[in-house]
Amino acid sequence: MYIAIIGSGPSAFYAAQALSNNDNNKVDIIEKLFAPYGLVRYGVAPDHQKTKNIIKLFNRVLEKENVNFFGNIDITEGISLNFISDTYDAVILATGASKDKMLNIKGENIPGVYGSSQIVGWYNDDPKHVSLSPDLNTENVVIIGNGNVALDCARILAKDQKELEGSDISSSTLKRLSSSKIKNIYIFGRRGPKEAKFTISELREFKELENFSIKVNFSRELIETYINDDSIDTRIKKNLEIFNEFYDIKNKNKNIIFDFFKSPVEIIGDQFNKKVKIINSNKDTTIINTNLIIKAIGYRSSSINNLKMDESNNFLLSNNGYIEKNIYATGWAANNSVGVIGTNKARSLDVVKKIESEIVSSKNNSTDKLIEELKRKNINFISKKDWESLDHLEEKNAMSNFIREKFRTTDEALKALKQT
Ligand SMILES: Cc1cc2nc3c(=O)[nH]c(=O)nc-3n(C[C@H](O)[C@H](O)[C@H](O)COP(=O)(O)OP(=O)(O)OC[C@H]3O[C@@H](n4cnc5c(N)ncnc54)[C@H](O)[C@@H]3O)c2cc1C
Repeated sequence: MYIAIIGSGPSAFYAAQALSNNDNNKVDIIEKLFAPYGLVRYGVAPDHQKTKNIIKLFNRVLEKENVNFFGNIDITEGISLNFISDTYDAVILATGASKDKMLNIKGENIPGVYGSSQIVGWYNDDPKHVSLSPDLNTENVVIIGNGNVALDCARILAKDQKELEGSDISSSTLKRLSSSKIKNIYIFGRRGPKEAKFTISELREFKELENFSIKVNFSRELIETYINDDSIDTRIKKNLEIFNEFYDIKNKNKNIIFDFFKSPVEIIGDQFNKKVKIINSNKDTTIINTNLIIKAIGYRSSSINNLKMDESNNFLLSNNGYIEKNIYATGWAANNSVGVIGTNKARSLDVVKKIESEIVSSKNNSTDKLIEELKRKNINFISKKDWESLDHLEEKNAMSNFIREKFRTTDEALKALKQT
């Protein structure tokens, strides 16, 4: 059977891994960017290299003879989903969720108000966001949201060059971060510390920050009461214990401020001077002057080829992964964008099982037909071998004490390939 997987994030690789175990299957991974791995490369924070180690597993899948990679192909632009669906026995959409959810408040579209996908994409050198220019001369940063992505953004903005050693942050981003004038990073949650979605390990890392004290705008007594309350879940208690330790991290010259039961209601100003109006549950107002506002409130996927979205409009509508004709979907493209990398494995395995029980193989030479079509359309795709070369070059170009120097645009990558 010939299967095309669109996207090359975790959900794509888990599906490719399962499908490629059958030697009769040929799997072509078709990716919009020049590089594979989706959010593992462009979402997971650059200082979380242990998490990025999953790439080693994905590379073992990519090394298999019956798995191929075609980068720099957007199926909403270059090659159409209809062509892929007609050419392959089955198609799996593993295109993720790259759009930011909206706050739906006044002033949200003023320049300098970013979705976390933009900021995360910027510090991870996602070609789509490398030209972003977040204002790091601002004294205050406001981050809205109480999940791990909010923590990632705060931590990366708070770390100095030495603290970022061992990461795969690029030299240009590092230079920008090193000249940052940020003094206060506010993290606002509309609910309380008990409800925050932070994971313990991410929260704990804040204790190690070199230059930032941690302030918790919440009664320490209440935190201690919660900790001693037997009815509260252990995971939540562990988070609260860390919050309790934060009160003692003082006397550094900059601050990260966790502030709860507060929501932004309006952003006032222009590109150069902004204020965020925040209210608490009593409707008391706080105004913060800032030129960098980051909304870390979740992601949603885009529709592809006018395929229907679910009623929340956050992901593609499917029947347990089946969409229509020979088209299936998995990962964040077909589910709410929550959970960790591994959460996508079971979903992808289910879709693979479905395909194996529902599809009768009838197509021939699908890969050759794809290559022919790419040539006919003059699309400069990145092959598996090309990616191997780029991967080695990125490692070779790394600054000392850093992991790699990513190519920041497709043109840069294509140019480097020509020179090899
Ligand atoms: C900022 C952030 C940090 C995270 N950190 C962690 C962490 O530390 N640990 C953890 O376990 N999980 C983390 N996660 C969650 C994890 O990244 C996701 O669970 C996982 O990446 C979802 O996998 P996916 O394959 O569905 O989507 P993605 O990883 O988003 O992959 C989708 C792929 O599809 C491609 N694509 C999209 N549209 C097209 C198109 N039209 N044509 C061709 N290709 C296309 C994209 O370029 C991308 O490569 C994080 C998520 C975010 C957003």
